[in-house]
Amino acid sequence: MPVKEDEIIMPDDLKKCVEFHGHICPGLIYGYRVAREAIRLMDLTRAVDEEIVAVCENDSCAVDALQVLLGTAAGKGNLIIKDFGKNAYTVLSRSRRQTYRFSRKTHYDYQGRDKDTFERLEAAVAEGSASEADRKNLRRLKIDDLLARPFGEIFITRELPFEEPLYAPLAPSEACAVCGEMTMAAKMVKLKDGRSLCLPCSQKTSAD
Ligand SMILES: [Zn+2]
Ligand SMILES: [Zn+2]
Repeated sequence: MPVKEDEIIMPDDLKKCVEFHGHICPGLIYGYRVAREAIRLMDLTRAVDEEIVAVCENDSCAVDALQVLLGTAAGKGNLIIKDFGKNAYTVLSRSRRQTYRFSRKTHYDYQGRDKDTFERLEAAVAEGSASEADRKNLRRLKIDDLLARPFGEIFITRELPFEEPLYAPLAPSEACAVCGEMTMAAKMVKLKDGRSLCLPCSQKTSAD
């Protein structure tokens, strides 16, 4: 269960992320912090086209904050998801010719603030004895912590050599020889008899 957003005081840019994503959660905050740090390091403004490219190594909530703040959006070809299940993000600016990779540090290591509560709640969740209120409190602690902590305590930042990625291709479409639907030619399967099929039709045909 996500935390109710009205319980947290949010800056405007975070509100936009929450509006797009639908709820506030620790995952979204990871993406929010990464996007803000990339903006700060490379002096970015939200990509209209493909000026910024993001490679996300997971397909979690965090990705949505990058879409909102960096304009690295699923439909534009400048959001690449490599779902390795890693809390890591690479952000590249074509105009600055710079690339940074951000990867999550090992753990929440509560130094002082809320440490006891946090450990008690984590233990309760781990052993399955946590109430709904416990779970909610833990999420809230995580969100507050992720928002308050210096970025360097959450993520390791590394500058990578800049290699300009190709732009998303503007590919022509053709009608599939079976269903007749227009399909990007590059994504079609060419049969020996010269016909081109869309992927779903080619799979049905070969299964027959
Ligand atoms: Zn979420
Ligand atoms: Zn087809």
